[in-house]
Amino acid sequence: MGFFARFQLWLQRFMYGRNGPDQLSLVILIVYLVFYLVAQIFRWPILAIVSLALLGWCFFRMLSRNVTARGKENQAFLSFFRRLKSHSNQQKSFRQDKDHRYYKCPKCGNILRVPRGKGKIEIKCPVCKTEFIKKT
Ligand SMILES: [Zn+2]
Repeated sequence: MGFFARFQLWLQRFMYGRNGPDQLSLVILIVYLVFYLVAQIFRWPILAIVSLALLGWCFFRMLSRNVTARGKENQAFLSFFRRLKSHSNQQKSFRQDKDHRYYKCPKCGNILRVPRGKGKIEIKCPVCKTEFIKKT
C-alpha cells in the first residue's frame, strides 16, 4: 500500500465519529484567512491572535466528537444566513417596485405598501390600526 492510500485510510479512521468540515467551519476558515492576511499586511498583532483563535475554533469543530452539538451550531448559522439573504432579497424587490413605497409600521413593524407620488398621506396599519403620516 502506497503512502497516500495509507494516509487516506488513517485519515478516514481518524475522522470517524467526528464532525468533519461543515459550512460554519468553512466560513470560519475563510474569515481566518482574511484576518491573517490583514494582520500580516498591517502588522496588527491583536488581529493575528484573533485569527489564530478562529483557526483553533475551526479545528475544534472539525475534530469534535459531539456531532449533535456541532450540527446544531451549523443549523443555527445556516438559518441566520438564510434570514439575512431573504431580508436583502426583500429590500431589493422593494427598490425595484417603482409604483409603490414601502413603510414599516412604527408600532408593530408590519410592512405596508402605499402608492408612490401621492404627496403626504396618512397611512393606517391594518394590523394594529396605528396611523402615521408619510410622504410618498
Ligand atoms: Zn402596525
